[in-house]
Amino acid sequence: MHESNNHYVSVIIPIYNEYEGIPYLVDNLNAFFGEHPALRPEVIFVNDGSKDGSAERLQEMHHITYKAKIISLSRNFGSHAALRAGISISDADLVCFNYADLQDPLELILQMEEKTKAGNEIVWAHRESTKTSFGEKSFSALYAYLMKKFAFSNFPEKGFDIVMFNRKVANQVKHNVEANSSIFLQILGMGFRQTSISYKKQERKSGVSKWTLSKKIKLFIDSFVAFSYAPIRMVTIIGILMFIFGFLWTIYIVTRKLVYHDLASGWPALMSILTIGFGITNISLGIIAEYLWRTLDASRKRPVFIIDKIVEL
Ligand code: UDP
Ligand code: MG
Repeated sequence: MHESNNHYVSVIIPIYNEYEGIPYLVDNLNAFFGEHPALRPEVIFVNDGSKDGSAERLQEMHHITYKAKIISLSRNFGSHAALRAGISISDADLVCFNYADLQDPLELILQMEEKTKAGNEIVWAHRESTKTSFGEKSFSALYAYLMKKFAFSNFPEKGFDIVMFNRKVANQVKHNVEANSSIFLQILGMGFRQTSISYKKQERKSGVSKWTLSKKIKLFIDSFVAFSYAPIRMVTIIGILMFIFGFLWTIYIVTRKLVYHDLASGWPALMSILTIGFGITNISLGIIAEYLWRTLDASRKRPVFIIDKIVEL
């Protein structure tokens, strides 16, 4: 069934100001691929606008056991864009991601490759536990919860950083470069045969996390706006609830007036007008937003369907 066990694997590593960690990274890559030459590895380093000479240092290093490519982006675009850039120049059978700080073990490459041999086209590596600060933990937990609830029912609880996929998937990502959107969610939403393994994320050996809070917030909003109707629907639902409340309230005060003749003048009528008015305004906003969402969705040119394969007899 499988033409060869020697897949040609691209490992894409985004690099942003990782100067001090580069020797450790390269040593580990050399050692790892030295032990597993069957992978026929290519490492694509994507220098995401580093300002500390990371790219120069990478070039000075000896990449012995794998083919190395270093591409540099014109400025800092964020790791998702960097991963896309890496995919755009890869033509390997299998593509996977890893990161400069090696918090995610290289052994995952072997485990994920094993799963692709079993016929899986996308293999996720889920984090088991993370020793992060409380703030970071609650942020990613909230993100995962909201994404699972409102956008993807198959969203993993602990989030994901590492994935391997085959050429078919890589070509899809290549041909459908979405701006301001999470590459992981794009792949997750593609379908195909997907599976996952889990692992423990290590502590960073040097340097600090390059994911600032503002980058995280941008990703959070991007993911939501790009993949979920939920915020728009919420506007409409609040509108409908206010309208219903206003309507019932109006019936109540009119009966009060007609039957019991004890209605206070002024505020009850005002409240009636306000809630019905706000209700109608919110419903209208929701309708406009629905149109906007559709235009936005169309302008993203995300395919309405993806054909996996066609069998000709
Ligand atoms: N990174 C990047 N561009 C950025 C931020 C990060 O290319 O704007 C890279 C970084 O060099 C690293 C990877 O993305 O290789 C993951 O970043 P980091 O380890 O800081 O994230 P964390 O592990 O804290 O989620
Ligand atoms: Mg890291």
